[in-house]
Amino acid sequence: MNPVLVLGGGPAGLSAAAELASLGAPALLVEKENYLGGNPKRWHYSLLAPDLKPAEEVLGELLRKVEGNPRVETRLETTVTQVEPAGKGFRVSLRTRETLETREVGACILATGFDHFDSRRKYEYGYGRYPDVLDFKELEGMIHDDRILRPSDGAVPKRIAWILCVGSRDLQVGNTWCCRMGCAVSIKQAVEIRQKHPEIDAYVYYMDIRTYGLWEDLYWKSMQQYGVKFIRGRIGQITMAEGGKRLVATGEDTILSRPTEVPFDMIVLASGMEPGHGTQEAAKLFHLPVGPEGFLTPKVADINPVDSGIPGLYLAGAATGPKAIPDSVTEGMGAALRAFQYARD
Ligand code: SF4
Repeated sequence: MNPVLVLGGGPAGLSAAAELASLGAPALLVEKENYLGGNPKRWHYSLLAPDLKPAEEVLGELLRKVEGNPRVETRLETTVTQVEPAGKGFRVSLRTRETLETREVGACILATGFDHFDSRRKYEYGYGRYPDVLDFKELEGMIHDDRILRPSDGAVPKRIAWILCVGSRDLQVGNTWCCRMGCAVSIKQAVEIRQKHPEIDAYVYYMDIRTYGLWEDLYWKSMQQYGVKFIRGRIGQITMAEGGKRLVATGEDTILSRPTEVPFDMIVLASGMEPGHGTQEAAKLFHLPVGPEGFLTPKVADINPVDSGIPGLYLAGAATGPKAIPDSVTEGMGAALRAFQYARD
C-alpha cells in the first residue's frame, strides 16, 4: 500500500499520522517548518483551555506516537510543489532547499492549519509600536516561562487588560467570523496569571463572551474564584500616557453607555484565526474550492466534515475553520480512517 500523505504537522496532522500508523498503514508526514507541533509548539502554548492541561502533555502524547514510529515517515522543511492524479491516488513532488523528489501516495490529508491574525493590521491598538501591547500568543510564551514582565522595562505589571475579537467579527479588516477560541484562551490566561500572581489585576474587554458548551465553567470560575473583571465594551484606541510609561485604553462601556478611558500596564490582544498560508497553497495545488473566508470547505460539512469531495483527498483541523485542539485531533483521526479505507480498497 502506498503511504497516505499528511500535509501539516500540527495537532490534526499528528493525530492523522498516529491513527494511520495504528491502523497499520504507512504515513508520509510533510511539514514545512523544521519542527512538528504546529502553532502550539511555535508559540509555546502554556495550559490548554478549558481543562488547564499543559499543552506539552497533549502535544507530547501525539508526538510520541509519531516520532520514531516505523510506519510514519516524517519530512521536515519540505513543501509539496506539484500534485497530479496517479491511478487511484496521487503523484506529489516534495521540495526541500536542496532536493526535489516525486512520490506516489494512496490518499492525501490536508491538515494545513491556521495563522493568527496579524494584530498590526489594527493600527489603532499600537501593536508593533507600543512594546507593552502584546498579542495573546506572545503572552502564552511568557506564562509558559512564568515571566510576566512588561517588555518595555522588565517591571511586573499591576494591571493587565485583554481585548477580545481582535481581527475577528470585524468588517473593517474583512474578517467577519468568530475565532471560537479567543474568549476561552484569554480567560484561561487571566486565570493562570491570577493563580500565580494574585497581586496582578486582570480585566477583559468583550463584545460577547463565547465560551461555548462546557467551557462556560471556566468563565464562571474566572470571576468567582480568581476575581477576573469583565467589561462589556469596545476599545477604539490605545495610546501612551505618563511620558510613555502607561497605556491607556479608550472606548465605550456598552453596559453603562458611557465613554471609558482606563490606564493599564500591559494590554493583550486576542488575535483571531485566519486561513494559514499553507492552507491557501494547498487549495491552489489541489484545485479545491475555499469558502468566502478563505478556509477549505468540506463537500458536506454536516455529515462528513473531513471529505473534500475529491476522491482520496481529506481535510482535517483548522484548515476548514477555527477549531479547538481536541476537535482538530478528532478530525485528524476521522480523516485518517477515511484515507485508510480509500487507499486500502
Ligand atoms: S471566540 Fe470570543 S474573542 Fe474570538 S471572535 Fe468569538 S467572541 Fe471574539
